[in-house]
Amino acid sequence: MKASQFFISTLKEAPADAEVVSHKLMTRAGLIKKLGAGIYNYMPLGLRVIRKVEAIVREEMNRAGAVELTMPVVQPAELWQETGRFEKMGPELLRIQDRHGRDFVVQPTSEEVITDIARQELKSYKQLPKNFYQIQTKFRDERRPRFGLMRGREFIMKDAYSFDRDQAAAKASYQVMAQAYRQIFDRFGLTYRAVAADSGAIGGDLSEEFQVIAATGEDAIVYCPQSDYAANMEKAEALAPAGPRGAATQALTKTATPGKSTCADVAELLGVPLNTTVKSLVLATDETNEAGEIVKTQVWLLLLRGDHDMNEIKVGKVPGLAGFRFATLGEIEDHFGCKPGYLGPIGLKKPLKIVVDREVAVMADWICGANEVDFHITGVNWGRDLPEPDMVADLRNVVAGDRSPDGKGELAIERGIEVGHVFYLGTKYSKGMNATFLGDDGKPAFFEMGCYGIGVTRLPAAAIEQNHDERGIIWPDAIAPFTVVVCPVGMDRSEAVKATAEQLYADLLAAGVDVILDDRGERPGAMFADWELIGVPHRVTIGDKSLKEGVVEYQHRRDAAATKVAVADILAHVK
Ligand code: ATP
Ligand code: MG
Ligand code: MG
Ligand code: MG
Repeated sequence: MKASQFFISTLKEAPADAEVVSHKLMTRAGLIKKLGAGIYNYMPLGLRVIRKVEAIVREEMNRAGAVELTMPVVQPAELWQETGRFEKMGPELLRIQDRHGRDFVVQPTSEEVITDIARQELKSYKQLPKNFYQIQTKFRDERRPRFGLMRGREFIMKDAYSFDRDQAAAKASYQVMAQAYRQIFDRFGLTYRAVAADSGAIGGDLSEEFQVIAATGEDAIVYCPQSDYAANMEKAEALAPAGPRGAATQALTKTATPGKSTCADVAELLGVPLNTTVKSLVLATDETNEAGEIVKTQVWLLLLRGDHDMNEIKVGKVPGLAGFRFATLGEIEDHFGCKPGYLGPIGLKKPLKIVVDREVAVMADWICGANEVDFHITGVNWGRDLPEPDMVADLRNVVAGDRSPDGKGELAIERGIEVGHVFYLGTKYSKGMNATFLGDDGKPAFFEMGCYGIGVTRLPAAAIEQNHDERGIIWPDAIAPFTVVVCPVGMDRSEAVKATAEQLYADLLAAGVDVILDDRGERPGAMFADWELIGVPHRVTIGDKSLKEGVVEYQHRRDAAATKVAVADILAHVK
């Protein structure tokens, strides 16, 4: 590719709404262009990166025996009504109508459609196991789309679905995928961790997230440096003894007394009017021993969304930075002595503390309080009295230095970006949609399923969070928009420079190197700044002076300075 023919459009300034470095750099380097909230154009440079990610994913999925197909982005609601997700899924699911007033959804994932295909096409156990995948546009109407491609509303996901005859076979299929994912993420050239994740109602250990390690990651991961224990915070907390640690709880609690616990009271306690929007609340109660000493503080996270279903209020136990386990309604009732959502009117049997968690508070538009109209606290500005980010760690149930569950060492905590997720589903969808095959006993049986996602457009953002400097992006070779840029200096003045550049470009192309020749005629400073921003890993600079010594200059994006290399040796440097 020649730069004069390609499309390069770099910016000096990052957009005002860009909070994280990947969003800033992807926009400045001209990889993406915003069209609306969480909706981006993949510009030519960005698309090249995405295509490379896809190619690696596709190759490894095929190698693992998965079969590619494509399902529609717009899907009839009927299938989604069969599993109940059309109603249950909440506002993340984009529902649309056609001209006849028929309901459709824009796929956020595709279990329903693939299960529909399976129940029609996979008739016999002889056709199993089968793993179908697609690399396709998804839409999730995220509450808070942000960070550019990291949390878009429209994004590309690779989603795969396995169908098996029984549990043992399904678990084997899951393991094949878990292994393929390691292969895939190894190839991207990023530092990542596979962590145990909550498998929800299904139970068991068959859910893992693939997390790219980055300080800006939205997820907290817990691992043991002395062993291979690693889990996301949600999973780690589910195993840990209850109760937060540290000073933050003490510093930021206000205490309500039993009996004084209507929503109006809670509002008064917080010093806010009723009917203002609350973002989140963490409720905590102390457990005391006979001597009246506090032995444990139980923390409950009350999350009532602005658009919540009045009968379906979620109260979660223990806020982690990214994850919290939803407590069962029974647990909440037991603990608070009242039904969730009726904390107020019914009153509490224990003292109630209210702790505000900055990390959770960044979620927008939460409402809290009683499950009754006019008894909500909405719109509280949590801008004041928030703990510092490092104090939020104190609100966790699992903290660094805790004993690892495998007993092999101490836990450490770091932040990650979820780029992949493998999940054993069991018969949830096959039962929901009556999807069966004939077993070897001649009887119909429900498919055992698994689902496996990779955030194809999130991955480049994660790569940048992990690999950048003050000048711009530093791509790993595997997913760089171009692996090599040839930069001739004074191409218009020097025939030798022009000829060498053209020849090297042709040679590299012939050797299968993804090279771009910068023949735009930019001044060296502007030219180098562009390529450093764009993050092409290998740069070859050709100038008259060095050519006279019979060399060109080679510089890796991470190198502090260029080294002189004979033209004939360049290929060895960039391959
Ligand atoms: P998150 O916890 O970040 O919301 P998720 O658990 O909802 O992600 P999954 O349903 O597991 O996501 O989807 C599979 C993969 O799709 C995720 O691991 C992630 O890499 C990617 N993904 C999910 N939501 C988004 C999004 N809004 N923008 C970009 N990629 C996404
Ligand atoms: Mg999500
Ligand atoms: Mg997740
Ligand atoms: Mg997930």
